[in-house]
Amino acid sequence: MTATPFVPAAKSTCRVLIVGATGFMGQFVAEASLLTGRPTYLLLRPGSVSPSKAKSIKNLQDKGAIILHGLINDKEVMEKILKEHEIDVVISAVGGEKVLDQLTLIEAMKASGTIKRFLPSEFGHDVDRADPVEPGLTMYIEKRRVRRSIEASGIPYTYICCNSIASWPYYDNTHPSEVVPPLDQFQIYGDGIVKAYFVAGTDIGKFTMKTVDDTRTLDKCVHFRPTCNLYNINELASLWEKKIGKTLPRVTVTENDLLAAAAENRMPQSIVASFTHDIFIKGCQINFQIDGPQDVEVSTLYPDETFITLDECFNDFLVKVDRKSISTDEITTTNPMAESMAITATRA
Ligand code: NDP
Repeated sequence: MTATPFVPAAKSTCRVLIVGATGFMGQFVAEASLLTGRPTYLLLRPGSVSPSKAKSIKNLQDKGAIILHGLINDKEVMEKILKEHEIDVVISAVGGEKVLDQLTLIEAMKASGTIKRFLPSEFGHDVDRADPVEPGLTMYIEKRRVRRSIEASGIPYTYICCNSIASWPYYDNTHPSEVVPPLDQFQIYGDGIVKAYFVAGTDIGKFTMKTVDDTRTLDKCVHFRPTCNLYNINELASLWEKKIGKTLPRVTVTENDLLAAAAENRMPQSIVASFTHDIFIKGCQINFQIDGPQDVEVSTLYPDETFITLDECFNDFLVKVDRKSISTDEITTTNPMAESMAITATRA
């Protein structure tokens, strides 16, 4: 990655507890918290973990993470943990199906009386504004319920609305940034002209950690709208074509196709289909102004910080692509990267 490295600010002593650090989004937040030098505690579920999760926990421990065990839906345990370790900030990145477990965590935080900031598991759209079809709507109703519970509790909060993770937005994949963009054909949603914001996972972590003790983000929704990463799906396809040095067929996935995939009620694919419909047909990331009393925008808050561009993220995907899978037949650009790939490509 060629972006400016994240230089930690003055060391903060604020003690952070991260829930869900073994998950997709939580790992970015945990890495970023450790980079800032804050005392970082990770809450893991008791029991055995897969070898890959064990490896990522070890990696975080090597960077200074302190491991605690417990479940957020166990009030007694959580209250004890929060008090014993004098936790100041709690960040939750539990998965969509566990959103309501946070209601017990809120009770524990309220009882502990010491929490200076809670960042619930949001990391997507502004759930009070977006209105996806089912089954995505149910998840948003649950996230809204968690918001109302936090607001009623009096615990200071920040909602991270980071929009889409930087990657090809497959309509049936929960974690698309773990998969390279298409190499056979593009599926274009509708006319492919509705724009969305794409943010690298490391930037989601980095900016999330900037907000945790920033008074300007207290009781606010922090929207991520980096202008450098505002793309529609046709533009995204062209960017990837430039990288791989060949053009690919574009197949239209219509609004009705997405609604049918959502209606199938297959989990988690149908939830992703409903969000894809909301983003690329209805424009849920761009169809409102962020000018409410609760709204702040991250590039405005931190104007000196750069975002990793989608172009850079696609370079990283390019490295992952098996060079053999790119045929020399259709090389259409003079992009030096594409040319070097053409030289080594085989027709296997
Ligand atoms: P994952 O399912 O990958 O990870 C969930 C984590 O929460 C795991 O570490 C899991 O532990 C932990 N966990 C679950 N239940 C409990 C509990 N009761 N107590 C303690 N820990 C628990 O989640 P994601 O990263 O996919 O989702 C996190 C958030 O990010 C969600 O709000 C989701 O909507 C959002 N998201 C946004 C995306 C975007 O593009 N903007 C993309 C993907 C997610 P264990 O390892 O033991 O299972």
